[in-house]
Amino acid sequence: MARIQIEGLSKHFQDGDETVVAVEDLNLDVEDGEFVVFVGPSGCGKTTTLRCVAGLEDPTMGTIQIADDVVNDEPPEDRDIAMVFQSYALYPHMTVRENMSFGLEHSTDLTGDDIERKIQETAEMMGIEELLDRVPADLSGGQQQRVALGRAIVRDPKVFLMDEPLSNLDAKLRAEMRTYLQQLQEDIDVTTVYVTHDQTEAMTMGDKIAILNDGELQQYGTPAECYHEPENTFVAQFLGEPSINLVEMDVQNGTMSAGTFEYQLDGRLADAVDADSAVVGIRPEALTVSTGNSESDTAFTGTVAVVEHLGRESNIHIELDGIDVELTVIVDGRPSLSVDDSVSVHVPPEAMHVFDSH
Ligand code: ADP
Ligand code: MG
Repeated sequence: MARIQIEGLSKHFQDGDETVVAVEDLNLDVEDGEFVVFVGPSGCGKTTTLRCVAGLEDPTMGTIQIADDVVNDEPPEDRDIAMVFQSYALYPHMTVRENMSFGLEHSTDLTGDDIERKIQETAEMMGIEELLDRVPADLSGGQQQRVALGRAIVRDPKVFLMDEPLSNLDAKLRAEMRTYLQQLQEDIDVTTVYVTHDQTEAMTMGDKIAILNDGELQQYGTPAECYHEPENTFVAQFLGEPSINLVEMDVQNGTMSAGTFEYQLDGRLADAVDADSAVVGIRPEALTVSTGNSESDTAFTGTVAVVEHLGRESNIHIELDGIDVELTVIVDGRPSLSVDDSVSVHVPPEAMHVFDSH
């Protein structure tokens, strides 16, 4: 087990005359035994960061420490890490047993019996003991994924690095493997960095998540912190489906307003707003809708534009009066609203996230 410390990490690639900034001044610690998920859109620098930790890329700047040792100059094989890729990267001509034992024979402190015992134990834990004599071509995608994980686990590494390991599985298997991997990491307690572009994987699997965009860290915290206390509009919009509502509001004499909505700033929100405008984020599940025009100022009025019935809940899209904004509201169960209904959308003050508008 080991802690990972990333300090001032930048990685720039030269692409002809152009410099591609893949990672810029990244600072982040992964504690001993923690499961940290790097998440962000394609091209935001997740894989590059992971490859720097693995030693497969040389940082342009910054240091990487594993178990309190600076490893910048150590080749990958000396870093005591195991990596799992989206592509599984199994050796096609070897059996599962040979794939798992490959490289371990060179270990000076393991006898042949030790290796066989470790493979047996790991195969049982992964539910692949029946597959040990097969070659990868005779396995399903899900089985290959388990073998790739088993091959990583049997090495007893200080650190696991996983790059989109579930992307090639179908949705149902992916959901199963998500739960399984979480359980597994808890059981074996190895420090893990897991890369994905999938916010559901990040939210459900990570002890902490690091949200990246354009090579820069946007927020680092528990999934609940990042969801409920997003530090900027990127994080607010990246987490949550349907996406958070963002409304540009005017601020004058301590009152925040947009369309038919007015709110007298106080307490927390008064402290958060110090300009003459602000962007306010409100999650769709925090809003409530009623039919007709509300007396209350702290409501938007508008017209139902689209109703999406999803079964357990419905997404209602509402065009607001007076401003060019469409709000999404989640309501439980079967919707009683229809397109063209006039409605009021109520905003609980505590649900408002305020961001700088620029
Ligand atoms: P992610 O894994 O988040 O999708 P990557 O780390 O693969 O993102 O890539 C980050 C950025 O760096 C992208 O713009 C990508 O095109 C660029 N990049 C990655 N590897 C190289 C490389 N070997 N040469 C040039 N550009 C690269
Ligand atoms: Mg990638």
